[in-house]
Amino acid sequence: MNDTTTPLSYSDVEQAAARIEGAAHRTPVLTSRTADAMAGAQLFFKAENYQRMGAFKFRGAYNAISKFSEAQRQAGVLTFSSGNHAQAIALSAKLAGIKAAIIMPKDAPELKVRATQGYGGEVIFYDRYTENREEIGARLARERGMTLIPPYDHPDVIAGQGTAAKELFDEVGELDILLVPLGGGGLLAGCALAASKLSPNCTVIGVEPEAGNDGQQSLRSGQIVDIGVPQTIADGAQTSHLGQHNFAVIKKLVSDIVTVSDAQLVETMKFFAERMKMIVEPTGCLAAAAAMHGVVPVAGKKVGILISGGNVDLARFSKLVSA
Ligand SMILES: *Cc1c(COP(=O)(O)O)cnc(C)c1O
Repeated sequence: MNDTTTPLSYSDVEQAAARIEGAAHRTPVLTSRTADAMAGAQLFFKAENYQRMGAFKFRGAYNAISKFSEAQRQAGVLTFSSGNHAQAIALSAKLAGIKAAIIMPKDAPELKVRATQGYGGEVIFYDRYTENREEIGARLARERGMTLIPPYDHPDVIAGQGTAAKELFDEVGELDILLVPLGGGGLLAGCALAASKLSPNCTVIGVEPEAGNDGQQSLRSGQIVDIGVPQTIADGAQTSHLGQHNFAVIKKLVSDIVTVSDAQLVETMKFFAERMKMIVEPTGCLAAAAAMHGVVPVAGKKVGILISGGNVDLARFSKLVSA
């Protein structure tokens, strides 16, 4: 099943880092004594909620668009996304001076739709429970000649996302464990590539929402498992299956995939707001929740935690944390 994938390596991440330099923020690495005490470990939070457009996805999108030929730039870029990748493509396209069309679910969070349109992206809505976004994307790519950059299943997207972990290792050195939120696997695969070179003894673990444990099932069974659209507050990880390119890397370099509950995500959102004074979206809390609720044994370890994004509107945020 994976014979169509391009083999990726650390050098792809390194090249991506050079391409996004100056365009993407080098996000801060935060620490918290309270979090360390709760986990009994030394935790390093890579705060991609402070990345441009509010999530790590700018890295992959900007890297992919940076590689466009003149003909590709003329026709523009097309994508489908539940939100953050849409904003990432819209912003990257605007910076590159090219057109962007984005296929989004009708029930995507309002903040993400408005932000995408605000960056100048053309939004095309679809029903995620009855229509197939991959098919719609392929048809539009054919009709308009635009280049499709999917949210995770693409070598340039994976390489770009890996620059988040590269920066983390560059800043804090080698780690015992790296915990990474997991949807379709762009971030996890990219971060695993970075770890394989910069911290080869680091155990890389993906963290999914409990209802969306397709990645865990896939890693355990050795093939991509599709579970349908999971119901979870982690809207950035509402993917039904891993990508081909992603799984090829994950199978090789990722030790385990664990799950956390929506209730644990809410507890973690509250912790970040109250103790670290920051807004993190539900999906952005996946990795931290695994460390701080004992899902992964981290005691005594030096642990990297990817906070993947911060895009949640205040009405939804206050509803979630006051329930
Ligand atoms: C997209 C996204 C994820 C999941 O990333 P994948 O590359 O699809 O695994 C996690 N967190 C946030 C905030 C996201 O936007």
